[in-house]
This record gives sequence, structure tokens and C-alpha cells, in this order.
Amino acid sequence: MDFITIYNFPPLISSILFLILGFLVFIKNKKSKINKKFLIICFVTFWWQFSWFILFSLKDEVLAGYLVKIGYVGIIFIPITFFHYFVSFLESVKKIDKYILRFSYILGGVFTIILFSSDFFISGFYQYFWGFYPKAGIIHPIYLLFLSILATRIFYISLVDLKLRRITLSYKYYQTKFVLWALGFYVLSAVDFVVNYGYEIYPFGFLFIIIFLGIIAYTIVTHRLMDIKIVLRKSSVYLISLSTVLILVVAVKYIFIKFFPDFAIWLDIIILILALSVFPPIKKHYYRLANKYFFTSLYDGRTVIADLSDKLRSTLKAENIYKYLSETFINSFHTKAVGILTYDEKTKNYLVEYNKGFNFGKQKKIHLFSNFRNAFIKQNQPVVVEEIKHVAYKKHKKTIDLLTKFGVEIVTPLNVKNETIGLIVLGQKESGDMYNNEDLSVLEIIGAQAAIAIENALLYEETKNFAAKLKKEVKKATADVKDANKQLRKLDAAKSNFISIASHQLRTPLTVIKGYISMMIEGSFGKVTKEELESLKKVYESNERLIQLVEDLLNISRIESGKLQFDFHETRLEEVVESVAEELSESAKQKGLALTYKKPNKPLPMVKIDGEKIRYVVLNLIDNSIKYTKQGSVTISLRLGVKHIHFCVVDTGIGIGKEDLSNLFKKFSRGKDISTVNPEGTGMGLYVGRMMIKAHQGTIWAESEGEGKGSKFCFSIPI
Ligand code: ADP
Repeated sequence: MDFITIYNFPPLISSILFLILGFLVFIKNKKSKINKKFLIICFVTFWWQFSWFILFSLKDEVLAGYLVKIGYVGIIFIPITFFHYFVSFLESVKKIDKYILRFSYILGGVFTIILFSSDFFISGFYQYFWGFYPKAGIIHPIYLLFLSILATRIFYISLVDLKLRRITLSYKYYQTKFVLWALGFYVLSAVDFVVNYGYEIYPFGFLFIIIFLGIIAYTIVTHRLMDIKIVLRKSSVYLISLSTVLILVVAVKYIFIKFFPDFAIWLDIIILILALSVFPPIKKHYYRLANKYFFTSLYDGRTVIADLSDKLRSTLKAENIYKYLSETFINSFHTKAVGILTYDEKTKNYLVEYNKGFNFGKQKKIHLFSNFRNAFIKQNQPVVVEEIKHVAYKKHKKTIDLLTKFGVEIVTPLNVKNETIGLIVLGQKESGDMYNNEDLSVLEIIGAQAAIAIENALLYEETKNFAAKLKKEVKKATADVKDANKQLRKLDAAKSNFISIASHQLRTPLTVIKGYISMMIEGSFGKVTKEELESLKKVYESNERLIQLVEDLLNISRIESGKLQFDFHETRLEEVVESVAEELSESAKQKGLALTYKKPNKPLPMVKIDGEKIRYVVLNLIDNSIKYTKQGSVTISLRLGVKHIHFCVVDTGIGIGKEDLSNLFKKFSRGKDISTVNPEGTGMGLYVGRMMIKAHQGTIWAESEGEGKGSKFCFSIPI
């Protein structure tokens, strides 16, 4: 029952710790050569310590005789595996070290053979107060010499490497430094060899290798050694809690056996229950401690990203986005400086949009050289300036120097669909620690989110500005148009007014003239000669034209001012048309045109119309046909439709071109070249006619096959 004692417990614990750390490192990155070598170191150390545990637990001398040499296989290979680790870890290793390494492995093999085949290496065992221990044979000192040579060589090549790295102070420099310190402590465990030579001192070398473990763990956490920080963080608390519980178990067991030997049977059960119940509170306690002291800069990446994306989603303002990003970096990475820059495609510069803690001086923009941009910024990954300084300093000297001058440690590109829209630059951490892999992966995700958020914000701002600008322009333009419109209306009103006044003033004298000439023609003022009569008739016709013109102008001005008045009466349309046809028959006859009126078959229903206005339209249409027809005929027709009465006048005249057809009814519109046919026309007749038909809820239209092919003008009014 008395299996674990205070003497065999330390090697058991250290062996377990080594095994766990070795596997953690290996699992984190199975492909990494360095991680594999570290696993081997851990494994041989485990071998050594675990065999000590077994040896210290044995009671049987025969068994001890068999097992005493086993542990030494591990011990022989410890310096060799360390050497191997450093050869892989350091980059400035010379060829000779590769030879030394090969030779060491051979020598290790030879030692192992000697170990098992003779008593030269280990010649038996001592029995000390804590248990059995190997006794050094005659060639044991040769092994010690070999060990010292290898250790010296490791220190030598590491220090040379450190010296080379001191200039750049890269993360590798710190790693090497710490690993070397760790090794220093490991080497101290060589004190245990004294015990092989008969000195009865409990082998406390385990203390040093546990310190070694501690330093390695610290380097992993703070300097990204072998990149297992995340794994380590999760497991270290468990590990330490487990060790504490184990120590407690041993202590309790020791006390019980010493003071209450009778309870031994129940002991293991009690201990098991005890261990299970104290484990959770211990774990909690360590977790709190770890958070406080060891992992102060640690944070939960997922929550940070989730919180930030919530915030980013809540805003479309670029300044807010910058602020949220900066807060996130400061709170989670404890970074001293944050800068956010946007890329200006035209000047190929990065413009400083946000800066907290960087000393950019008066510089509002930063120029990164295109080879740097192509090599690093195009990749969607954060760039560690120290790292590229290490791998490609010569190539990107200018940019790296610039970034170093500003104290930029990390450059995170803000890329959207392979287009760089800007950068996030971070300065040193408050703690002086390097940015670890977790930081970088968090940054990578944040970078992608931030890029989209910033792009959206900038686009939104642009659109908003554009919309505002557009609104302003439209407002101004509208005001201008309104102004112009007002002006035009005024002019139009003035014109209409003028025409109206002028027409009224003209109408009266013209009517007076008409009366007097009529009287003269009729002979009221005495007999007139034939010549005088001819002249008087011409004056009369011209006066008539003037009256018509004034009438048209007055009509237009009334239409436009809404003052054209209608006087609707039940009227027989045939009578209106007949009288107009009769009136115009004389002028048709004079031009040699056949004017025919096709009467409707049966009498038409009476319609409620303004007879005067419809008369005007009919007269104008027939008169036009006579005017614009040189020879042939003018045919007038009236017809009853289902709900309308249709009036048409068809002629064999000059016809109308397609272009003119659609414009005829507009104000002052006349046919192309029409003035050669009728220089006196004004283009008012059809317009006024259309207005009048419209007032009767009717329609008016023109048809023609084309120029020279005659025309047809019709209107229809509802019954
Ligand atoms: P005006 O006859 O004084 O020019 P109208 O408004 O009466 O003005 O006619 C407008 C135009 O329509 C005329 O100038 C002419 O080009 C065309 N038009 C009218 N009636 C006819 C027709 N019967 N044959 C050919 N063209 C016509």
C-alpha cells in the first residue's frame, strides 16, 4: 500500500510534467522539427525521472539489480537530444555541428551497449535511505566528459547566435536567451551524478529541471516559443492544480501512516474523496491567480471578436469604427499605440485617419514602398515588423526603417476583395512582450471585419456627401428654373395683355371702316365708277383680312387667359355647314375648284354647341382647303356616327408632309415652305379651332398621304 513516498514522489511529478509538456508541444504542431526535438528531450527526461521513481519505490534487491541500468538509457541521451534541439533551433549552425551530432548519436549507442553488456558504465547500486541508486562504473567519467563537451558546445553556438541577433532584438533573440537560461538550470541537475559516486545526498536535481520547465513555459507564453501558448494556457491551470492535489495526497498519506497507522485500510478511499472534492476549488483559485499574474495580457479571442463585430455593426461612422478598434486593441493586447490609415489610390499614400500614441509628427500620410506593399500588404495577414526585419531587411530596408522609426510593431492590412483600403498599425505592448500567435490570428479576423466596416462607412459617407451636394444643386437649379419661369410668365402676360389691348383698340376702327366701305360700295354716298368700285372692293377684302387677324389674336389671348367664353345652344349643325359652304362657294368658283357638300342621308339630331365658334372652325377648315388647293375639288361631308357627328373636308391640294402633320394644331405653326403658297397665313386658325373643338369635348385631326396628295381635315363632336 505504501507506494508513494516523499522520496519517490518528486521524480514521479517531474516525469509526468515533462511528458505532458512534451506532448502539448508536439500536438500543437506535429510537423515542426523543433517541436519534435523538444518532445524527444521531454521524453528522455521523463525516462530518467520515471525510472528513478520506480527505483526509489523498489524493495527487492534482485529487481533493483535488473532495473538500475534502465534509467541510464535516458540519461545518456539527454545531452545528445539537447544538442539536436539547438542545432535545429539556431539558424547559424555550422557544418561541423552536424558531424558532432552524428558522432554523438553513435557514441550514445556505444555507451548504451556498454551499459547493458558490462559493469563498466554502471557497476551496481547503492542502497540509500530513499532507495536504490546506480553506482558509477569506470567509464562513467568518460560519459561526464562527453556531456560537458556537448553542453559547452551548445552554450558556445547559442551565445554566438545571440550576439548576431542582438542587433535586431527579434523575438528569436528573446527565445534563444530564455531557452539558454532554461538549459543552464537543466545542467545544474548534473549535481545528481555525485550520488552515483557514493555520496548519500538525496538527488535534488529534479528541482532544477522543474525550473527548466518553468522557464520554457514562460518563454512559450510570452515569446511564442514553439507556439503552444493557447494549449498551454488551457492545460497549465489543470496541470498545476493536479500537482497541488498530488502533493496534498502524499502529505496527507504521510501524516496518516505516521500518526494513525490503524486507519490505513480506509486511507486510499478517504484520500480519493478528498482529492476529488478539493480539485475544483483549487483549480478555480489557480485560474484566478494565473489571470492576475501570469496571463495578464491574455483575453478570450472569441469574445473580443464577437464584441467588436457587434459594435462595428452598430455604426456607419468611420470615426466610431476607429474608436472601437482602438479600444479593442488597447484592452486586449495592451498595446501602447494604435494607428489607422486609409489608402489613397491616386497618390499611393496611406493617410493617417486615426492615431493614438504614435509619434507620426506632422506627417499626415505615410508612403510604403511598392515592393513592400506587394510582398506583405497584399496578403491578408498581419505583418510582424520584427519578423520581416529578420528575413528580408535588405529588400525592404526603407519601409522597415520607417516603420521602426515610428515604433510600429504590427502592420495589419485592411483588404476588401484583394483591394487594400488601408492599414492598422500597432505599437509595442505595455508589457514589452511580443505579439503572440493568438494575437495575430485575432488581428487577422479583426482586420477582415474592420476592412469591410471601414469601406462601408467611407462609401456611406461618400454617398451621403454626394446626395447632399446633389440636393443643393437641384435646389439651386430648381430655384433658377422657377425664377426663369416667373420671368417668362410675366413676359407672356405682358404680351397677352398687349395683344388684347391692341386688338380691342383695332377692332372698333376696323368695323367702322368696314361699315363705311360697304356703304360706299352699295352707293349710299352717290354713284361710284367701275374703277372706284374695284378699288373699294380691294380695300374691303384687306379690311376683312385685318378683322380676321384681329379676331384670331383676340381669340388666342382669350384662350390663354381663360377668358374665351362659350354660349351653348341647341343648334342644327347642317345649317352652319351649309351657310359656310355657300359663303365660300364664290371664292372656290373663282379658283376653278369644284366645291361639293355631301349632305347627310337623314336629318341630324340637334346638338348643343356654340354656333359662332363651330362656324369659325368649319369656315377655317374649308377656307384652308380652298387656299391650299390649286386645282381639283374640295368636298365637305357631314355624317352621323354612333355617339358623334363627324365633319370632314377633303381636298386635292398640296397635301401635308409627315413632319408637319403632327405639328399643325400648335400655336403659330405653319407647314414647311407654306409661305410661298400663302404668304398671308399666320398659323393661328387650326390652333384656335382645336381649342374650340376641345371646349365642345370633341376631337379634331388631319390626314394626308403626303405632299401633293391632298388632305383631309375632320372634327367630331359628341351628340
Ligand atoms: P394658316 O393657314 O394661316 O397658315 P392654319 O392654322 O389655318 O394657319 O393652318 C396651319 C397650317 O396647316 C398651314 O400653314 C398649312 O401649312 C397647313 N394646312 C392647313 N390646311 C391645309 C390644307 N387643306 N392642305 C394643306 N395644308 C394645310
